[in-house]
Formats: sequence, structure tokens, C-alpha cells
Amino acid sequence: MHDNAPDDRYDLLVVGSANADLVIGVERRPAPGETVLGSDLAVHPGGKGANQSLAAARLGARTALLARVGDDGHGRLLLETQRAAGVDTDGVLVGGAPTGVALITVDPSGDNSIVVSPGANGRLTPEDVRAAAPLLAAARVISVQLEIPLDTVTETVRGRGPDTRLVLNPSPPAPLPEEVLAACDPLVVNEHEARYILGEGAGETPNDWAPALLALGPRSVVITLGAAGALVADSRADSLDHLVSPKVEAVDTTGAGDAFTAALAWRLGRGDGLREAAAFAVRVGAAAVTARGAQESFPTLEEVDAL
Ligand code: ATP
Repeated sequence: MHDNAPDDRYDLLVVGSANADLVIGVERRPAPGETVLGSDLAVHPGGKGANQSLAAARLGARTALLARVGDDGHGRLLLETQRAAGVDTDGVLVGGAPTGVALITVDPSGDNSIVVSPGANGRLTPEDVRAAAPLLAAARVISVQLEIPLDTVTETVRGRGPDTRLVLNPSPPAPLPEEVLAACDPLVVNEHEARYILGEGAGETPNDWAPALLALGPRSVVITLGAAGALVADSRADSLDHLVSPKVEAVDTTGAGDAFTAALAWRLGRGDGLREAAAFAVRVGAAAVTARGAQESFPTLEEVDAL
């Protein structure tokens, strides 16, 4: 796809969020006005953007991140973990608001209650994207999610290079402008996001959803199906393909979708076809569920090969 591209292009640029996940285990959630004691606090780097850039870099992709963090300890933690994984963080802006935070309580059954403060993620502006034009032009693939302002996502779509492929995971789901949908190649959704986008009359099965999603304009669609793998469809070939996930013992599915999308985007940038890239991505997603945490669970290429 990029036979004459200079070697210094990024395989993947992620434009997205970076959060600190603050996790406390509780026996039960407090009622309004009540205080309960919990476990020691655990602080993990997270956010869908930072997850994806780290997942790609761990696989060996040449990766850059365009994001915004606060001038605080959480921001420094995120920058350090990205750099340690080999992500180019020159595009990470610092300041303007505190680093985004997810406050997570986990009860003994494993159920989460989460409050997100977008913080600096909400201050990543279209102007920031325009100022990063050289970074956008240097990417084979750009991956975006919806934990940053929609205007910023739209500006990323507009500012990408003529031969830069766009991968969008619309999470958390929100209404998408036509020009954003039309640029997706692919639109990557899980079952919940597919139902949200299609609304009433979505049909009962993923086999119904794929053509209905394609009819909204994206050049291709990938639907992730948890343990069942993923479905891929594109408008060029009038067919649906189901990529089966390897059977693994699932320990924690947090971040599986981000690992999947990062792997898919990287392999598309390397010139794989959609089915080939998704076949690799289901293996990466499966490997990611065999270990606890999000970023901590993302596999190396050797670990994927060993699956
Ligand atoms: P999350 O929100 O937990 O990050 P998601 O809902 O966005 O995930 P899923 O469809 O659950 O995405 O998972 C993404 C990919 O991860 C799947 O396509 C599959 O390859 C892999 N995966 C997830 N769960 C399992 C599992 N239990 N066993 C094997 N593979 C899995």
C-alpha cells in the first residue's frame, strides 16, 4: 500500500485519551451520604488512546500518541509508561486541566462502578490537531476513539494524509457525523456499540448488523464478539467473514477491545488485508484476556505467537 513511503513513517498514530485509573476494592458500594472503607488504592495508566498506543508498541509497531495530560503526577505516570513501551510521546500535550481520571470501585463479585473525569482529554482541541499536522501526515494509520471531543475527532479525519487509513472505535458511543463515518476503514464496534449506532430495528444478529453498519457509509466494518472472535465486512467484497478467537482461559477482559483495535490498525498499516489483520487481532485480544489489568495484560508478539 505504501511501497514508496519513507521508512520513518509511523505504523500507527493514536489520537485519543489518557487516563489514570484509580481502583479501590470494596465489600459493598456506599449508599448516598454513607462512607465505606476499601482496599489500598491501585493507580493504573489507562484511557482508550493510551491503551491502544501502548498495545501497538508492545507488539513492535512504530507508534506515536497525540493526547493531552495534566501537569501532575498522573500525567507523568502516563508519559513514563508510554515511553518505556517505546511510544513516541512528542505529540502528548501537557497542561490545561488535570489528567483525566477514572474512579473505579470493584466489589467482591468483580462488578465495577466507574466515574470518569475527562480532565485534560476534554481540552484536546481541533487546534491541537491542526498544530500536529506533520505527525498526522507521517502516519500510515490513525486510530481514534470517542473519549476526546467529537470536534477533535472530526478535525483528525479532515487532517489525515491522503493515503492515511483511519480506524475508529466509537467508544463511548455517540452520534457520528457523516464525514467521520465515511472515513472509517474500518469502523470497529463491539455488540453494544453496534446496537447503539443502529438503534431500533438493528436486527437480531451480528450478521444483520454488519451490512446495516456498512450502509451508513464506512468503507469497512469490524464487529468484535468477545470469546466468539470478530466479524469483518467491507463494501468491496460482498461477504462477511467470521474470525474465530483462540480458546483461552479468560482472567480479565479489561482492555481486550483496545488490544484488538491496536493490533488490527498496526497490521493494516503494514499492508495486510482486512481479514488477515483481523485474524491476527483476535489472537492479540485473546492473549490480552489471559492476564489481569489493561495495559499490564497487552501481549508481545512472542506471546501472541505462543498462543
Ligand atoms: P473491552 O470493553 O472489555 O475492552 P470490547 O467489548 O471492546 O472489550 P470484545 O469483543 O469483548 O471487545 O473483545 C475484543 C476481542 O478480544 C475479541 O474480538 C476477541 O478476539 C478477544 N476476546 C475477548 N474476550 C475473549 C475471551 N473470553 N476469549 C477469547 N478471546 C476474547
